[in-house]
Amino acid sequence: MTELTFTRTEAARMPAAEREAILADPGFGNHFTDHMVSIVWTKEDGWQQPELLPYGPIQMDPASSVLHYGQEVFEGLKAYRREDGSIVTFRPDENAKRLNDSARRLALPEIPVELFVAAVRELVAADAEWVPRGADQTLYLRPFMIADESFLGVRSAERARFMVIASPAGPYFSGGVKPVSIWLSQQYARAGRGGTGAAKCGGNYAASLLPQNEAAAQGCQQVLFTDSATPDTIDELGGMNLFLVRADGTLLTPQLNGNILEGITRKSLIELARDRGMAVEERELTVSEWRAGVADGSITEAFACGTAAVITPIGQLKATDFTIDFGAAAPGPTTLALREELTGIQFGTRADTHGWLDLV
Ligand code: PMP
Repeated sequence: MTELTFTRTEAARMPAAEREAILADPGFGNHFTDHMVSIVWTKEDGWQQPELLPYGPIQMDPASSVLHYGQEVFEGLKAYRREDGSIVTFRPDENAKRLNDSARRLALPEIPVELFVAAVRELVAADAEWVPRGADQTLYLRPFMIADESFLGVRSAERARFMVIASPAGPYFSGGVKPVSIWLSQQYARAGRGGTGAAKCGGNYAASLLPQNEAAAQGCQQVLFTDSATPDTIDELGGMNLFLVRADGTLLTPQLNGNILEGITRKSLIELARDRGMAVEERELTVSEWRAGVADGSITEAFACGTAAVITPIGQLKATDFTIDFGAAAPGPTTLALREELTGIQFGTRADTHGWLDLV
């Protein structure tokens, strides 16, 4: 097992006034903290000494395999500052396990869960001043792993690098909790059977950009992808899972079918809903069922969920030949109640009865 003690090279820290100016309005993904974590892996020697380094460019050989064949996986989680000033992350062990699931699919090495969690803690502790204090603000953490062998043959790399970087974040959608419009992608698919849909790998996101541009041209903020083989079957959004709410209070969400990412927000909401005595159905959902349910009043709310966007109400689903519109009904009461419960746990205003928080 690799040592969990990090070699530390202290960065010249950004002056406090400059940092505070960024934290006043960080946006999403624009600014980076003073440090980063880097851990090299080689097939011969396994995981090497973990390092905390000043944030900055990394040297790469132009023949590095990630640059050619996209052998890369990543994660996203957040650090939250609670009212008492303490800092927590949310279920980092789940991100570690999912990174390893993704790594297996991409033929990258798995990282011990304790090393992943230690790396996240190390960076957040070093850059604690970067965890914002404002409402709905967090420090977004981006662990990732790249194949980094200088070799142009197509095979799994024998050298890789795991890193963690951090970026202060305000709300992902600039409208806050305002409902978003979703574009139904009918021309492009995100995943196919046996593909990489269930893995969090860069290539999935590269493939989503063109449909995302199409969505933007239609005035929508996100894309809904359906199953490439059965196009009526709902998979997920480009970067979020999807839930529908029935008038009787039941939550509906697509089952884990190998095409969709197993969201940690999705998983947590299913537990929180069941705690409240709500029924949750994880099963095949179709666009037709959604349309019919809204038309006859049996489906009353829809929302997207993920680490970055938390829970975001869906106001509209637009397709080339129809629109589903929740209009003034969005955001609905179930969407708001679940959002308040989840963010309450994360920011420490509600009890963490499941033991999901990791104190930094
Ligand atoms: N689906 C996709 C494609 C995503 O990129 C994300 C964000 N990681 C999610 C769902 C939501 O996952 P989580 O709740 O773990 O952030």
